[in-house]
Amino acid sequence: MRPKSWVMFILLAICLINSAALAQDPARFPKPEFESGYQQPPTQTPPPRSTGREWMDVFVLAVALGLTSYFALKKRSRRAIWAMAVFSVIYFGFIREGCVCAVGSLQNVSAALFLSDYVIPLTVLAFFVIPLIFTLFFGRTFCAAVCPLGAVQDLVMVKPVPVAGWLQEVLGLFRYVYLGFAVLFAATGSAFLICRYDPFVSIFRMGNDFGMMLYSIGFVALSIFVARPYCRFLCPYGVLLGWMSQLSKKHLTITPDSCHVCRLCETSCPMGAIDKPT
Ligand code: SF4
Repeated sequence: MRPKSWVMFILLAICLINSAALAQDPARFPKPEFESGYQQPPTQTPPPRSTGREWMDVFVLAVALGLTSYFALKKRSRRAIWAMAVFSVIYFGFIREGCVCAVGSLQNVSAALFLSDYVIPLTVLAFFVIPLIFTLFFGRTFCAAVCPLGAVQDLVMVKPVPVAGWLQEVLGLFRYVYLGFAVLFAATGSAFLICRYDPFVSIFRMGNDFGMMLYSIGFVALSIFVARPYCRFLCPYGVLLGWMSQLSKKHLTITPDSCHVCRLCETSCPMGAIDKPT
């Protein structure tokens, strides 16, 4: 793990320990009272589903991860990855209405760890764990095309502008802060922040209140010109995947046997995700 990741890991651990202490005494962390008349946006949840259908989703997730890993690492097919991204947006996004999703599942796990009366459904736990396991063995193939949030940003990206390295580093720190708050709020039973402020769920469910719709449209518009802004600057689950990926032995490499160290790829990736060739 890189030094920066260690620092973030330690900060998160401190945050988790604090959450545990707070969770023992929920009265110490009451829901804030707003006197300004501000109305919190409601957390959108789809109607309950049958257990069989939920396990079906887990099965689809595992198959999609297997296929994407194969297409990315063995076939090295950009077209196949693109097709998987379209599938994920349609199935996990529009058909399943963005729920359950791996990104949000980290809140269920936090609640289960710290709230004695919260029971996490096994299917939700599977959504949290399976992408992490795949990342451990194959790198972040979940982000490549299986996560509907990442896929939708990829599909709308038209003309990404490069983001300066230092700015990307600074904005990327928000992911750690968001992760800390998401865990804290879930662990104290206050709110599921990730679900409440999910920028794409209003699109997947084709409706929400005016403010949230505006927020979603703004994020989609931003994704046209900035490659995967949610993934790079906000996604808390991406932090966990990033840590897991650093333990992974297998990573996608650029033309492994024929790199001439021309370094063109350094500037060609819109996400700034390509390590400098050595
Ligand atoms: S970084 Fe987060 S939102 Fe983006 S693809 Fe990965 S898990 Fe999904």
